[in-house]
Amino acid sequence: MRLGALEAGGTKMVCAVGNESGEIFERESFPTRDPEATIADILAFFDGKDIEALGVSCFGPLDLNEASPSFGSITTTPKLAWQYVPLRARLQQALRVPVGIDTDVNGAALGEVLLGAGKGLQSLVYFTVGTGIGGGYYYQGKLLHGLVHPEMGHILLRPHPDDPAPRGFCPFHDGCLEGLACGLSMERRWGVPGRELPPEHIAWAIEAEYLAQMCVAAAVMLSPEKIVLGGGVMQQERLLPMVRARTHEMLNGYVAHPALVEDIEHYIVAPALGANSGAVGALLLAERSLR
Ligand code: ZN
Repeated sequence: MRLGALEAGGTKMVCAVGNESGEIFERESFPTRDPEATIADILAFFDGKDIEALGVSCFGPLDLNEASPSFGSITTTPKLAWQYVPLRARLQQALRVPVGIDTDVNGAALGEVLLGAGKGLQSLVYFTVGTGIGGGYYYQGKLLHGLVHPEMGHILLRPHPDDPAPRGFCPFHDGCLEGLACGLSMERRWGVPGRELPPEHIAWAIEAEYLAQMCVAAAVMLSPEKIVLGGGVMQQERLLPMVRARTHEMLNGYVAHPALVEDIEHYIVAPALGANSGAVGALLLAERSLR
């Protein structure tokens, strides 16, 4: 099956052609410009590629209510030119194939649970910790939407006592996860990008504290069988073991399952698909749109 994938991000678009096994035959990426120019770039890539369906894992917020007239539109994004752009409808009309769409993090959760770190599991939470923070949840064959879709990046956290910016930087909330712990927040707090901070800098202990609170919240609220942490900030390899250790301490044995008490190294993991989680997830969204 030849399927198309679009990983639609706020700064870049990744287009790919592949199959339902997650194999990618070709890919291209280009910067996200205004909607008209960007949609033209996407259509130019897929022109003549003979795909049977397209999957879109997209930055949000999105309207994912299939009964809504604006199903598949981007809604109240801070990227103003993209507000209320009916991305799915535009692509479906032009390409004349089924188009599946979901949040970028739900797409990545789907990729990881079917073909990556969570193969064979019935439930998995995927977090991206990058420019922003978001989470997606796969449970027994479905990606969680609910009222709109989860906005896990905006759960409220308890500030670290040594954090010089304990209210964080979210324009909406005091002390939310994204405002405290995304890549942009690290840069604003410390004046340099995270990758330039030395390993012994307290920034890492503070970051790990916040990401551990995130993992604790996911574990107790959703009880996933695995938590996958992706995104640019997680490229700092020192961070993952610190997050596991603090999560283990904070849970304090309360959720008495061996996965959390004895084997947290295999419970909170890096994406097995690496940087391909999003593109593979989008291929699987394409495949699901054909059902
Ligand atoms: Zn917030």
